[in-house]
Amino acid sequence: MQLSPFGDEEGSRRRLSLLAGDPQISYQRRGAQWEVRDGPPIAEAEEPIDGDQARLIRAELRIVDSASITPYDPLRDVPEALFAFEAFGEKVWLNGVAWNDGLIHETIKFHERYGPLVRNESLTAPPVPVPVLSHWLEACRMALAFKCYQSLRPEEAHLRPNVIVLIVESFLWDLALLPSEQAATRQLQENRLIEWSQYQTRYDDADQGSYTRRASVWLNQTINLCLEGFGVRSQVAYSPPSSWFSSYVAPTLGGALWGQLAGFVIEGSTVKQCKYELCQKRFPAQNPRKEYCSDFCKENRKKRERRKRGM
Ligand SMILES: [Zn+2]
Repeated sequence: MQLSPFGDEEGSRRRLSLLAGDPQISYQRRGAQWEVRDGPPIAEAEEPIDGDQARLIRAELRIVDSASITPYDPLRDVPEALFAFEAFGEKVWLNGVAWNDGLIHETIKFHERYGPLVRNESLTAPPVPVPVLSHWLEACRMALAFKCYQSLRPEEAHLRPNVIVLIVESFLWDLALLPSEQAATRQLQENRLIEWSQYQTRYDDADQGSYTRRASVWLNQTINLCLEGFGVRSQVAYSPPSSWFSSYVAPTLGGALWGQLAGFVIEGSTVKQCKYELCQKRFPAQNPRKEYCSDFCKENRKKRERRKRGM
């Protein structure tokens, strides 16, 4: 049996350290799983120790392409995680955030696929599965932010009354979860709750300007609070000769999801569903006329049509 794609252990160490510029390469993971083919995956909550490193190198590393030898980066690797999380949040809303085996199962699936929202927060850790609830509330918040963003478009104005109800509800949770010693924050949240409750009774469909102003402020405050809460930093880089670009550095999956939504809002993208029957993935489109998530799907759809016509 070949120990690794790079030969013996010593050779692997050398090669991997050169490839990655850092011996940390052996800790590559995708979602919650380490990139190893044999041996059980090392659990998220355990920091690798020297023995594990040797085990990882002895195991056959799965080098798919150059992207897999860089650290897991949800912003780049799993753009669909945002949609998966948002769709999950809507289910939680519908269920009234009540305990439910189906939702627990989906939460575990999400964690297996993408990892926990905050590193080292295990779902199964005894004695109480508190992170399950925080995962749900975060997903609800994400779903609401999404809906709020959509409702800002005039053609989605029908979503607005529901968004107002949900925003009021989200202030109620925040207050319920906020420790009583944080008096200043509580006062601020209570004031906002009162404002939104009053607006709810006065809301008029014709009042477009006032809605978009209010809802944009809520959306920005929410995104900023969540970026801060998950420790996201924004950075600006300069690329010669004259272009500046900004990006997010997210140390957690939760932060990366909010960073993705922030990027989405900044670009003014809309959510589209891929028209290729076998894909149907949701994707952000800056150009609202874009119909496919990728050139790959566009080509495949054309090929299928041609085949159908040929028959
Ligand atoms: Zn597609």
